[in-house]
Amino acid sequence: MSMKFTADESAFRAEARQWLGENSPGRLPSMDTENGARAHRQWERTLAASRWSVVAWPEDLGGRDASLTEWVIFEEEYYRSGAPTRISQNGISLLAPILFQHGTADQQARYLQPMTDGSEVWAQAWSEPEAGSDLASIRSRASRDDERGGWILSGQKTWSSRAPWADRGFGLFRTDPQAERHRGLTYFLFPLDAEGVTVRPIGQLDGDAGFGEIFFDDVFVSDDDVLGAPGDGWRVAMSTAGNERGLSLRSPGRFCAAVDRLVALWNERDADSAATSGVVDSWIAAQAYRLYTWGTVENLSGGGDIGAYGSVNKLFWSQLDIGLHETALELLGPDAELRGEGAPADGAWADDYLFSLAGPIYAGTNEIQRNIVAERILGLPREIDARKKP
Ligand SMILES: Cc1cc2nc3c(=O)[nH]c(=O)nc-3n(C[C@H](O)[C@H](O)[C@H](O)COP(=O)(O)OP(=O)(O)OC[C@H]3O[C@@H](n4cnc5c(N)ncnc54)[C@H](O)[C@@H]3O)c2cc1C
Repeated sequence: MSMKFTADESAFRAEARQWLGENSPGRLPSMDTENGARAHRQWERTLAASRWSVVAWPEDLGGRDASLTEWVIFEEEYYRSGAPTRISQNGISLLAPILFQHGTADQQARYLQPMTDGSEVWAQAWSEPEAGSDLASIRSRASRDDERGGWILSGQKTWSSRAPWADRGFGLFRTDPQAERHRGLTYFLFPLDAEGVTVRPIGQLDGDAGFGEIFFDDVFVSDDDVLGAPGDGWRVAMSTAGNERGLSLRSPGRFCAAVDRLVALWNERDADSAATSGVVDSWIAAQAYRLYTWGTVENLSGGGDIGAYGSVNKLFWSQLDIGLHETALELLGPDAELRGEGAPADGAWADDYLFSLAGPIYAGTNEIQRNIVAERILGLPREIDARKKP
């Protein structure tokens, strides 16, 4: 792997750094509150107006046709500037790649552009009360409505991030109850204000309504909003899961920026030796993740596939995130509890620590990722399926 950038890539980095230096809003209020969501949508508009919202997309969709290398460079600069996590993340990182891959021309025309400027924020509606890790056991169903040319959705989804503030959702429904578990599933796109949809906010650990339950009470969705072929939803969904665990959700720029802030905090505080070693470990882990990611970029740019290695990324970034925040709290001591005026970083370390605790759960729990690594990368025997008779 070479870490040398071309003149064009270096110019791209300089341009991004300058624009972000002049425009980054820094930390915004939580996007899981009404005011915060509004401020985040405004930031998405600002990014889109200068074509920094979706740099890897084609120019006619508001992007810059950036390469994967340039995209990672942009992410490094984005987080370096202190800019906030994107409210459009579900749309631009999870749904858009499969819209490009499986969507019709009409779906691409309708849905891609409004997600670039925050005018349509999407929620991922996969999990159900009895179907998280074992996603193929979902029970929400869709039945055919030939008369109207579409489907009727019913059932319940849960843990849908941003659903209380989002405009639209994407998710899997069972369309053929007779088919095998992974078959007979169909991928639907739907508006969250459709007749028959109820979104009930769920408070997170910090009290904000970061999630929602979504109830479907005979919701009509036309054939135009089936993504991929009916019955092919599992395959379509799996092309998103690799994205979520791999590069797109947690690019290393985010952790490098956090660890830089951690080093600054350590410099400000009279650190004891125990916290010092935590700072060093976090710094090394962030750099290791960055280098590993550049290796992945080289592999993907050469036509490789991230495949099961997305699970390695996921394990690494989720543990790194917790470790660095625990170290920050150790450095802050009782001050970590402070909020409001005079609180260190306005209480951001403690807020981010609470969120880091969710890292081993969302995007597929770490226990499941370890199974994937064991079976698909290390070639260990498959785990015993308790549902199968001996
Ligand atoms: C912050 C956050 C955001 C989220 N956002 C979304 C979202 O936007 N959309 C969405 O659809 N979902 C979302 N989720 C839900 C998330 O995907 C699920 O919580 C996750 O898949 C785990 O499913 P579960 O909660 O049903 O736990 P379960 O699957 O019931 O697991 C419970 C425990 O058992 C372990 N376990 C289960 N099966 C095995 C096995 N075979 N081997 C070993 N251990 C096992 C799990 O690892 C876990 O520790 C979010 C979750 C969080 C925390």
